[in-house]
Amino acid sequence: MKSRKLLMIGFFCFQSLMGIARNYEYGSPENYPIPAGTLQEMTYSPASTSFQLWAPTAQRVELRLYRTATDGRPARTLQMKRSADGTWHATIKGDMEGMFYTFNVRHKGKWLGECPGINARAVGVGGTRGAIINMRDTDPAEWCCDEAPKRNDVVIYEMHHRDFSISPTSGIEHKGRFLALTEHGTTTPGGQSTGIDHLRDLGVTHIHVLPSYDYFTVDETRPELPQYNWGYDPLNYNVPEGSYATSATDPKTRIREFKEMVQALHKSGLKLVLDVVYNHTMDIEGSNFQRTVPGYFHRQRPDGSWGNASGCGNETASERAVMRKYMVESVEYWMKEYHVDGFRFDLMGIHDIETMQAIRAAATAINPEVLIYGEGWAAEAPQLPEGTAAMKANMAKVEGVAAFSDEIRDGLRGPFSDDHRTAFLGGEAGHEESIKFGIAGAIAHPGVNMKKVNYSQQPWAQNPHQMISYVSCHDDMCLTDRLRASVSGMANTTIASATEPAGSMESEIIRLDLLAQTAVFTSQGIPFIQAGEEVLRDKKGVHNSYKSPDSINAIDWSRKDTHPEVFNYYRNLIRLRNDHPAFRLGNADLVRQHLTFLPAADCVVAFKLSGHAGGDVWDDIIVILNANNAYVNVEIPNGNYERVAHDGRIDLNGLGWVCGNSVSVAPRSATILHR
Ligand code: CA
Repeated sequence: MKSRKLLMIGFFCFQSLMGIARNYEYGSPENYPIPAGTLQEMTYSPASTSFQLWAPTAQRVELRLYRTATDGRPARTLQMKRSADGTWHATIKGDMEGMFYTFNVRHKGKWLGECPGINARAVGVGGTRGAIINMRDTDPAEWCCDEAPKRNDVVIYEMHHRDFSISPTSGIEHKGRFLALTEHGTTTPGGQSTGIDHLRDLGVTHIHVLPSYDYFTVDETRPELPQYNWGYDPLNYNVPEGSYATSATDPKTRIREFKEMVQALHKSGLKLVLDVVYNHTMDIEGSNFQRTVPGYFHRQRPDGSWGNASGCGNETASERAVMRKYMVESVEYWMKEYHVDGFRFDLMGIHDIETMQAIRAAATAINPEVLIYGEGWAAEAPQLPEGTAAMKANMAKVEGVAAFSDEIRDGLRGPFSDDHRTAFLGGEAGHEESIKFGIAGAIAHPGVNMKKVNYSQQPWAQNPHQMISYVSCHDDMCLTDRLRASVSGMANTTIASATEPAGSMESEIIRLDLLAQTAVFTSQGIPFIQAGEEVLRDKKGVHNSYKSPDSINAIDWSRKDTHPEVFNYYRNLIRLRNDHPAFRLGNADLVRQHLTFLPAADCVVAFKLSGHAGGDVWDDIIVILNANNAYVNVEIPNGNYERVAHDGRIDLNGLGWVCGNSVSVAPRSATILHR
């Protein structure tokens, strides 16, 4: 027995020396062992740094330490040791701060290539090596006292860091950086507020930033180049993007500046929502997932080819235990380490329902106020059993998670498939029920004829806060461009700015823009706007500006000078909603009890919120949206009403009185009355 044991030990030593260590075979990925602890991969202390990597199918794992982030030979190479749960471990004594690291996994006789693991929390420039830092050095002063503000309502403002601040008209110093959102006192050339002061004046509550984790396409080593990308090409999910920091080369800077941004937003009464893109990776073969546990984190079709529900060449496998665990822990990490207040899930319909439920539960345990919403669709059908994906139609199974309503969006502006087609806003009849569906918050409502609603012929929200109400976002054309492209007679219209004169139909675009947002903000869903719509942003007609230059994407803040009335309308619309709980009842039964639709002509939607809905100080509120290019008369219950919105203006102090049983509504505008 003794000699046989020695022989075995000798055999394993030989295998290991020759690099032909055993293969770990589990059959299907569902059988891979699941680690009990967190997937944290690097733990630093001045005395030692320890590493952990979950790689159950690896034959060997090498840990390499470097003095630099990008080149040079490894200062040390260590062989990691395997545990029964499929994790590999190594500990290095001494203070390793400032060093960089990679893992290299040997799988089925091949080295898969170096990567910073799937769970790096700090990286060097370019994101190809992990960085050893003391995370506590990245906390700004008073970070421990940072607290999210309490707000009545949720109004989401979706922005890209570079769009928001890069124009000289922003008056912001840290252009295209996280720090842009920390600067107060910045103004347009005409002295109107910009930046964080602008957001506070506008009254939005949640600042939703486009992907801000470390993504691939922008070369962080060339910050002087005018590079642009939305960032839907994830590299390291748990590290902020380097090109948004004042320095991408010091691994601590991006982390500290991200936190400074959150802290500044919180101090100004604003919350931060992260756009998270767990549904696909930049590519497959080069991805940290594939270099760690090949085939585990991405879905395959029955024929073995990669699934492509993202339209980006791959889709991740949230239903696998460790991918689910990874997503849950990533969300928890952004909340705990960065104090993030919400998440917008890109192509949420690729994720399975159980994962979204687990994320909701974990996030709520940290902060019951956390906001979670996503796109309840996918680019093509995901490789998941029917009925198990977090699609819009399955929202009843993911309580506490909201989805975007393409019904109200496309009912207003026209279909996503054709920029040149119009709908309600263009004065085309037949879209009224889609608007009403959105006004009610995508719930079952007796006043909505579901058969005439676009896309969904049935309600999909259990309560109205499961619906995101919007007419434009970063995808597709922005609102002014869409109106120009789709509404008859508006093709050559320009919007006046510091450098361009107005086109002849400018005032008509503005009327329809304000009408569209009045529908969005009087919806019982959660309102959402794309940054810059409040200053009549355009993108020169570009449909997909994901890598367009600043000349297309930058917000021209001088339009706040030329069109102060537009900004005031948006601000007053938000105040109307914030001051009046009738517009945000939050409960489907209350909506059915208090919201009724009034009979109206084609291209008119009229509704009443009655009986001090939601405890509102106003007894009855009547909202009429008229997309006709003519006055219309709408019958209303007989009475004396104060008008607060009329003919492209909103004033909560009143815009005159309406008496009797009918009201005349100006062309292409909204009227709001109360008594
Ligand atoms: Ca990057």
